[in-house]
Amino acid sequence: MERRIIKSDEEWRRQLSRESYEILRQAGTELPFSGQYVDTDDEGVYRCAGCGAELFRSQAKFHSSSGWPSFTQPMLADAVELREDKSHFMLRTEVLCRGCGGHLGHVFDDGPAPTGQRWCINSAALRFAPEEPPKG
Ligand code: FE
Repeated sequence: MERRIIKSDEEWRRQLSRESYEILRQAGTELPFSGQYVDTDDEGVYRCAGCGAELFRSQAKFHSSSGWPSFTQPMLADAVELREDKSHFMLRTEVLCRGCGGHLGHVFDDGPAPTGQRWCINSAALRFAPEEPPKG
């Protein structure tokens, strides 16, 4: 799948908050327990803060005690892209948004059922959209 969104660094800088820019475009990491979605339990969808792509559902969110929003799986495997990350003297799997190429976080193999995965995602890379309450 090809990138849907291609912008210059200057455009991203203008569009994003400083924090979101540092994470999405410079592969930064927010401090643990600092992000706005660490403890969020509301029903809804977490979209990419860069391009709006739907990435994670609240149903897949769990409390990992890592200090970052954690999910057992993405909404669609196709929504994300994985890349080997050898920075900081570690071997990790980086998670990127496929739509815009933005850095989201990392995925680890120490998560709970059903997948055994822990998708460790920066709050500032996400934008939460609460579910519409049922009508009637
Ligand atoms: Fe994106």
